[in-house]
Amino acid sequence: MSAPDARRVIATVCLSGTLEDKLVAAAAAGFDGVEIFENDLIASAASPAEIRRHCVDLGLTIDLYQPFRDFEAVPPETLRANLRRAERKFDVMEQLGADLMLVCSTVSPDAVDDDELAAEQLRLLAERAAARGMRIAYEALAWGRFVTTYDHSWRIVRSADHPALGLCLDSFHVLSRGSDPALIRTIPGEKLFFLQLADAPRMDMDVLQWSRHHRLFPGQGSFDLPTFVANVLATGYRGPLSLEVFNDVFRQADPKPAAVDAMRSLRLLEEQLGLPVTGLVPAPELSGYAFAELAVGEGAGSRLADALTALGFTLTGKHRSKPVQLWEQGGARVLLNSNSSTSDSAAIGALAVESADPIRSAQRADAMRAPILPRSRGPEEASLSSVAAPDGTEVFFCRTGAENAADWLADFPGTATPLAPGLGITGIDHIALTQPFDHFDEAALFYRAVVGLDPEPITEFAAPFGMVRSRGVTDRGSVRIALNGTLVRRGEWAPAVRDPQHIAFATADALATARALHERGAPVLRIPDNYYDDLEARVDLDPELLAELRANSVLYDRDEHGEFLHLFTELFGSRIFFEVVQRIDGYRGCAVANAPIRMAAHRRQRLANTG
Ligand code: MG
Repeated sequence: MSAPDARRVIATVCLSGTLEDKLVAAAAAGFDGVEIFENDLIASAASPAEIRRHCVDLGLTIDLYQPFRDFEAVPPETLRANLRRAERKFDVMEQLGADLMLVCSTVSPDAVDDDELAAEQLRLLAERAAARGMRIAYEALAWGRFVTTYDHSWRIVRSADHPALGLCLDSFHVLSRGSDPALIRTIPGEKLFFLQLADAPRMDMDVLQWSRHHRLFPGQGSFDLPTFVANVLATGYRGPLSLEVFNDVFRQADPKPAAVDAMRSLRLLEEQLGLPVTGLVPAPELSGYAFAELAVGEGAGSRLADALTALGFTLTGKHRSKPVQLWEQGGARVLLNSNSSTSDSAAIGALAVESADPIRSAQRADAMRAPILPRSRGPEEASLSSVAAPDGTEVFFCRTGAENAADWLADFPGTATPLAPGLGITGIDHIALTQPFDHFDEAALFYRAVVGLDPEPITEFAAPFGMVRSRGVTDRGSVRIALNGTLVRRGEWAPAVRDPQHIAFATADALATARALHERGAPVLRIPDNYYDDLEARVDLDPELLAELRANSVLYDRDEHGEFLHLFTELFGSRIFFEVVQRIDGYRGCAVANAPIRMAAHRRQRLANTG
């Protein structure tokens, strides 16, 4: 028999809504239990006993009641009041059926810097708890008044020496302070009563603000959580893995998908730790894009067909039963799906990756809480599996040319059109998707956990319409997705094209492709002279190359590996454009620094076309 999965718990503070909304979302995402955050309970009209029954009905346990603040190292009269307060909270916990209370290190101005006194008073509290069959988990807040590190909280708990007093370790408090997690191994597992997990981006800011606004689910930030948890498990700790994430976005996001995002993060972490996760198989290797599908209205569809023709693509097939065209050049395939009733509408509806094993890809997606989407198909048509990314983009797992039902190309009987000579485009290099503000971190985790792509560091840049963040997810070979998003929600002043998307095609010679495009009058986006004057000042380029770049509106970037030449088309329909890119000597990125130039150029083009 295989080992059971770890118990998975989520703090109600992670999710938006009322306590009842949070419990329903946690249960629906498959959590085993919850930490009840006191303010959620206080604001609820349901009694603790009713909440207990509600949790039982939902299949949830209540693993922790939190937080109990400012208890220890206080004068006698304050201690009396604090013990009285604790007894009332024990009453509440009794009704809830919860037996573990979190006490966080004091921030009170009444407290004194006296570890012995803190230990003595925590021992007293533990005695009171034990008398009622309860236990106390003491947590060092990173901004505690005197106790700020886990090793300090452990010294106090060890000296208090009571079986009902143990530690709560919170990855944020430990890792934000730069404490060495290896020392956790010196703590006996039975004294670790609870483990709270949060990731976070690296930030140089006040630790309290960092903690309250910017925590993330594991795998979304920069903390080394696998090493941290491995140290905890090495002590013999076998309690739940519990998420405690304070985050401005999650606090206002729909709790159901947020809870799914949370569950996905835990499963990925467990996989990284080598823990059993029911149904989870390793992500099969990918080998590029099978296709990108554009959902288009009538007007945008015909403009995109013209643009693809100008780019050297040929209409090579039409779907047996659906209004979908297949356009090809080299290894690049674009589907135009005329399923939008809005004439000007154009959006990336789907992307398809080549998987070494589409069935296992789908199995992994399902285990990562991305259920396979229902799909209508004719009796002879390929059986393709797809899942929905957080922004609604469908992600297909294909094996083009395979001798099985997954060969989707067989559904596109060829047209008689002779193949155009093409303009040097060899495949899809990357796909760029603007993410809704609320889904940026969730999207990176989705592509990491479900599809098996590695996220790159986040880049931020100032664009004409606000600050933008960008993050690539890639298999470091054949598949790359650029996720872009605004740092804050936009107000009324915003570009007409709020969420542009594009497909970047690869070429081995961007200048040759550019020259051919200009010769045939293709709608290449004009890049202003100021850009090239600045490029000349910044980079010592061969003057002939610079002149060629300038004449053909080709942009340039370089990194420590190599160079990058790229050009853009104008916008088609509501939000789509194309890019053609040439990577030289292993250049890794997507020239994010050039994005503001492109955005301003698109606005100029749009005003010129409408004005
Ligand atoms: Mg905590």
